[in-house]
Amino acid sequence: MDMNTSHLIGAAAQAFLAAPRRMLIGADWVGAADGATLDVRNPADGAVIAAVPAGAAADVDRAVQAARAAFDEGPWPALPPVQRERLLLKLADLVEAHAQELAEIESLDNGKSVMLARHVDMAMAVDFLRYMAGWATKIEGTTHDVSVPFIPQAKFFAWTRREPVGVVGAIIPWNFPLLMAAWKLGPALAAGCTVVLKPAEETPLTALRLAELVLEAGIPPGVVNVVTGLGETAGAALAAHAGVSKIAFTGSTAVGKLVQRAAVDNMTRVSLELGGKSPVIVLDDADPAQAAAGAAQAIFFNQGQVCTAGSRLYVQRRLFDRVVADLAGIASKMKLGPGLDPSSELGPLVSETQRDRVCGYIASGLAQGARAAAGGGRAGERGYFVQPTVLVDARQDMRVVQEEIFGPVVVALPFDDVDEAVRLANDTAYGLGASIWSNDLARVHRTIPRIKAGTVWVNCHSMLDASLPFGGYKQSGIGREMGRAAIDLFTETKSVMMAV
Ligand code: NAD
Repeated sequence: MDMNTSHLIGAAAQAFLAAPRRMLIGADWVGAADGATLDVRNPADGAVIAAVPAGAAADVDRAVQAARAAFDEGPWPALPPVQRERLLLKLADLVEAHAQELAEIESLDNGKSVMLARHVDMAMAVDFLRYMAGWATKIEGTTHDVSVPFIPQAKFFAWTRREPVGVVGAIIPWNFPLLMAAWKLGPALAAGCTVVLKPAEETPLTALRLAELVLEAGIPPGVVNVVTGLGETAGAALAAHAGVSKIAFTGSTAVGKLVQRAAVDNMTRVSLELGGKSPVIVLDDADPAQAAAGAAQAIFFNQGQVCTAGSRLYVQRRLFDRVVADLAGIASKMKLGPGLDPSSELGPLVSETQRDRVCGYIASGLAQGARAAAGGGRAGERGYFVQPTVLVDARQDMRVVQEEIFGPVVVALPFDDVDEAVRLANDTAYGLGASIWSNDLARVHRTIPRIKAGTVWVNCHSMLDASLPFGGYKQSGIGREMGRAAIDLFTETKSVMMAV
């Protein structure tokens, strides 16, 4: 642990970190069947802060069996919806009551600012669980007046039921660990499904604390199981398991494709929340200072490790130099430091691998002729810090413009008219988010339908709400989470027809 920040962790988080960590299968806290463990590191200094079980196929199999028993024989799907709602509300209350402790663990594990973990990640997780709790009592079918042409005298009554899909395998990334767990658990549990959750190997800690809170809330054992472990072993075993009815995956597009392939043989339902290369489009009527501040927030929030990060900045030519200068000024002044230090404005990236990957992208951009208006590489000697970086003089076909970097790196390019902005914005394999900065309502409304993205923000970026469907066009994913759309993902429709 970083010597300068250990005093910033409260007693509850200290106690959690000091105890040996096990994963939750059914009612049991267990190690991996083969005894293997994975080290968990503090990204601010690389120090080992915990070890978790390295679960693999045998552990996933046990967890799926526990979830299957809780679904087929256990009380969960049969519980009156109002009881599922109350238990989810209780879980939300517990997350809220432990928000500071969870935020400290998250900050230490992921590197993110403890303030943001507390007021963004935890606050949103609580909101999201409460919102989804409400859906437990509001899942409805439809009734139909049917006409069967070959027996016109017969009468039928027909209706639909929405039934829980079954055992859900939830595989989540490291950028918002507890929030992503809540995104999956909320709708799955509200719908009556049981879950095997596989957190990212880099950030398994808050999922294990959440599992303790799940049991404390009174959710029956087996309804939620957490298997920690590597993606290529535990994750792959979960995606391919015949006992899993649905995989809910959030992560990179490359792994999303592997998961989809693994699910094919069992016809496992799959929803995918994947990567992005989201454009920030600044039209020339915008306030340049506001647009630069917005662009900075869009890319530097959470060190740029956000699926909807505004990693491509397109500015109409008249404002280009001004917006880029302001953005570079903001980037150059950001204070880098451990997430637990409240004065830090930018924390470390999650891992050494991620830091080197991001620096590799910056180097490739510079080698292809781009120039760094701010930043340009690694920061400091210890930990996984990268300078907030603004690249200019880039071309649309460069890797830094086309590929997801997932770090504090934005590429700024000018455009001449809205047609060109739309063409450049859509010129990517991704389609997760986009923002338009302008006060010209007619131009904004005419542009929104032309952007191929699951979410378009206007004069803001990466703002989410539990009620608003979220997901990607193109290679950014399949399906929509949040809102009613999330319930659709975790239920099957059964049609019933009765002769009367
Ligand atoms: P990743 O794809 O490397 O890993 C995601 C999860 O998949 C981890 O739990 C990992 O262990 C697991 N995994 C890895 N290989 C696997 C395999 N072969 N089979 C099954 N599971 C496997 O992603 P990451 O680096 O953890 O997260 C960053 C990515 O997540 C970015 O691309 C980001 O855009 C994306 N993301 C998307 C959203 C969204 O809602 N669209 C939200 C957050 C992050």
